[in-house]
Amino acid sequence: MRRGLYLGRFQPYHLGHHQVLRQIAKEVDEIIIGIGSAQKSHEIDNPFTAGERVLMVSSALEEFNIKHYVIPIEDIQRNSLWVSHVESMVPPFEIAYTNNPLVIELLREAGIKVKESPLFKRNSYSGTEIRRRMLEGEKWEHFVPEKVVEIIREIDGVRRLKTIAKSDQE
Ligand code: NAD
Repeated sequence: MRRGLYLGRFQPYHLGHHQVLRQIAKEVDEIIIGIGSAQKSHEIDNPFTAGERVLMVSSALEEFNIKHYVIPIEDIQRNSLWVSHVESMVPPFEIAYTNNPLVIELLREAGIKVKESPLFKRNSYSGTEIRRRMLEGEKWEHFVPEKVVEIIREIDGVRRLKTIAKSDQE
């Protein structure tokens, strides 16, 4: 059984992540998705809760017809121990997929095989760009899977983001 781990913050899960997972689904038997910074929500850079992100990822992944596990992982204050922390939370895996330089470095130092994947339309398929568009009232829906649009609407995510971006200063 070949299991692959894909790590991300998914704020929100977008079509770049989706393209990468489409590819990973062809290479492994089961996929583990680790939802990083699970403790964060209701922040401008991290508006969605771990549970909301679990819903986004698991709903979008149904399309690939592959067994998968979506597991929230909180950050810890010690990078050198982070990989052990991740391993303690997820099923055993053979390979990890990421493009995040810090994550690559930490995994490789721990002896884990890492595969980098191509970036798809990084300027638009980007959490930062999608959150910016939500805040500015621009169109963002075409950058995320349809299921994710539905979830963000259901939780009134854009209103939340706009509210937490407000200041109580003059
Ligand atoms: P992310 O959601 O920004 O990205 C997830 C993955 O998707 C990354 O590999 C990224 O390169 C890739 N990606 C993004 N846009 C793409 C596109 N358009 N096309 C293809 N791929 C694309 O998440 P992240 O920042 O990589 O998440 C890492 C998580 O690990 C964070 O939550 C971080 O806090 C956590 N972390 C924690 C510690 C610690 O607790 N000490 C240490 C390291 C990492």
